[in-house]
Amino acid sequence: MKREDKETLHALLETARGWVSSGEYRPRPLPDFQDDPEAAAVAPCNDLAGLYASIAACTRCRLCGTRTNTVPGTGPERPLVMVIGEGPGADEDAQGLPFVGKAGQLLDRMLSSIGLSRTTNAYIANIVKCRPPQNRDPEPDEADSCAPWLEAQIGLLEPPFILALGRVAAQRLLGTSEGIGRLRGKFFDYGGIPLMPTYHPSALLRDESLKRPAWEDLKLLRERLLSIRADYEDHNDRS
Ligand code: URA
Repeated sequence: MKREDKETLHALLETARGWVSSGEYRPRPLPDFQDDPEAAAVAPCNDLAGLYASIAACTRCRLCGTRTNTVPGTGPERPLVMVIGEGPGADEDAQGLPFVGKAGQLLDRMLSSIGLSRTTNAYIANIVKCRPPQNRDPEPDEADSCAPWLEAQIGLLEPPFILALGRVAAQRLLGTSEGIGRLRGKFFDYGGIPLMPTYHPSALLRDESLKRPAWEDLKLLRERLLSIRADYEDHNDRS
């Protein structure tokens, strides 16, 4: 609900209280109402620069209070694959860039092994654009608040493929509570865009045994991209 609507409702209720009160009526002071995050308008963005500027000014959830930088995303404007992680960590918060810490270095190696890179054909973003304190999972209301930015980003980038990294991103994008072990390596549909979840690189750093299944997932993705890669490269060479 918007702040103005809450104030109107408050005024109406106070008027009603005045009418029905039998004794002395003292109006209650107007509280400092705020827009609910999901009601705060998100101005339409026509390009990535506009989107980044809007994200930099965002106060739609509590994470704006603890961030150093917003971390909107990085990569080419017409990616072959959009990679979506969970949320920035300390290194990303400090630099304003996604996946620049240890997990990011591993992610770069994973992408490179199937011919992808953040400088040429892979765009990297997160479910939330600000760091959750102590690297906790983003709360559902924080992800809700950030969803319009991610949706706008996907709308502008029009990626032919989405790679979701880890449980939080996969569950959020697919609207499921199924575990990542069951979701990984399968192809889903995200509003007409094929999406495959795989393990988060941080999980691979914690548990070496996940590296082999993650590699199997990446090989599936490489195979799946074969059919669209030639068209993508041809189109990019011409533009
Ligand atoms: N983990 C994520 O999910 N995203 C980042 O940007 C960095 C680490």
